[in-house]
Amino acid sequence: MPIYEYKCNSCGKVFNTLVLSSSVPDSDVNCNYCNKKEVKRLLTTKISFGNTTTTSKPAGCRAPAGSSFG
Ligand SMILES: [Zn+2]
Repeated sequence: MPIYEYKCNSCGKVFNTLVLSSSVPDSDVNCNYCNKKEVKRLLTTKISFGNTTTTSKPAGCRAPAGSSFG
């Protein structure tokens, strides 16, 4: 079960709460302090690693064809 961080618009407090599902709407969460349903979920910073960047390798050095010694 994920823990989300919410901020109350009524009292301005920030609190963490455990939600049963990630699809729980903000309007379903009560403030821990004033118990009002005027909270907004804060964006949590996710730590991601293993960045895969697609790098296009340049084509190999190729001599221009058609050059001949006469
Ligand atoms: Zn509050």
